[in-house]
Amino acid sequence: MESVGSATGLTDEQRAIKDVVHEFAVEEIRPTAREADETETFPEEVWDGLAKLDLTGLTVPEEYGGFGADRTTYAVVNEEVAYGQLAVATALSVHCLATECITEFATEEQKEKWLPKMAQGRPVGMFALSEPEAGSNPAEMSTVARREGDEYVINGKKQWITNGQRGGVCILFAKTDPDDPNSVTQFLVPEDAGYEVGKKEEKLGLRASDTTGLAFDDVRIPAENRLTEEGRGLSAAFHILTGGRIGIAAQATGLSQSALDDAIAYANEREQFGNPISKIQAIRHKIAEMGTKVHASRTLVREAARVADAGEDPRTAASMAKYYASEAAVDVTNEAVQVHGGYGYTTDFDVERYYRDAKITTIYEGTSEIQKEVIARSLLD
Ligand SMILES: Cc1cc2nc3c(=O)[nH]c(=O)nc-3n(C[C@H](O)[C@H](O)[C@H](O)COP(=O)(O)OP(=O)(O)OC[C@H]3O[C@@H](n4cnc5c(N)ncnc54)[C@H](O)[C@@H]3O)c2cc1C
Repeated sequence: MESVGSATGLTDEQRAIKDVVHEFAVEEIRPTAREADETETFPEEVWDGLAKLDLTGLTVPEEYGGFGADRTTYAVVNEEVAYGQLAVATALSVHCLATECITEFATEEQKEKWLPKMAQGRPVGMFALSEPEAGSNPAEMSTVARREGDEYVINGKKQWITNGQRGGVCILFAKTDPDDPNSVTQFLVPEDAGYEVGKKEEKLGLRASDTTGLAFDDVRIPAENRLTEEGRGLSAAFHILTGGRIGIAAQATGLSQSALDDAIAYANEREQFGNPISKIQAIRHKIAEMGTKVHASRTLVREAARVADAGEDPRTAASMAKYYASEAAVDVTNEAVQVHGGYGYTTDFDVERYYRDAKITTIYEGTSEIQKEVIARSLLD
């Protein structure tokens, strides 16, 4: 069933991509999702499938062997991959953050060295901004990269790093002067530089995605691995994260769509009082509210992507989409569990996983509170 307005405004090419990724999500991702979640194992065969579809090179320019997607296509792909499993979409979008940093800020030599391989899926990229004591305000980070001759020497700890164990290229944000909050700088740190990868966090949801700490103890990288001028790291991070937030909003939409579809299927099948529960007004109204939230989420996502593709500043639109779609995903997945009754509370149905997964979309890449700050600033100041 085509969901309301899901293809509206897309070009023929974007529709074709949407159909291919939707089919992949249904046939290749969804069947592996429950086991990947239960065993807390990333489905590498799914990653290889994404690579075969060129999607691991989604935001890598074509000249480096990538897909060269615009933001609308990026959003469509994120939505459809999340329809399969949010943990897979999260891994993909963080990999994309890393390839985008390299595309925008690295030297020609570095682009040629990393982008073609990353477009083919490996090494997997990481984006290491957060720290144990610095989340919503990354300027409070304490990781330091001290210049020594032709090298930088890195010391500190990063926290919550998606693809932490799978990853091979870390885009790292560190201060070049521990006493100067304005000295945050962006670096490319390959795996063989020798940082330590921590244990996987045990999480409420998104359990197939590996989230770890990274520890840097006198890790040395050549000075040419600095991607931005000293002190330009935070503005680079926020610039890349603005595009990323459109992706997270799209993922939240895909997750909501999967919860809605499962709720509709169950409501049509489950009988109580002699009829399918889809005949009961209370259930019908839940489905109506869920469908409206999915459609509103998608509309905000597509609008934010359109603004970005038009070359306008997408910050407010991206924060509105991220805030709305992530909170809607929590509501919609909650109602999907409710429609399933007691069965929805068991692992026999996927809706309990959707519900656990949905919560993270309101937290990472900027919490809902931070998105509202961004929106309020643009409306008030
Ligand atoms: C599964 C997972 C994967 C992640 N992946 C990555 C990754 O790959 N790379 C990475 O760098 N980070 C990653 N993160 C980190 C994530 O981005 C942070 O958790 C998030 O930014 C919030 O930071 P915090 O956890 O330190 O919360 P805090 O900043 O301590 O916030 C705590 C609470 O205070 C609120 N708050 C804080 N400041 C304000 C304010 N000024 N106004 C209003 N409310 C405020 C927050 O909204 C929140 O409710 C990941 C996190 C998780 C859980």
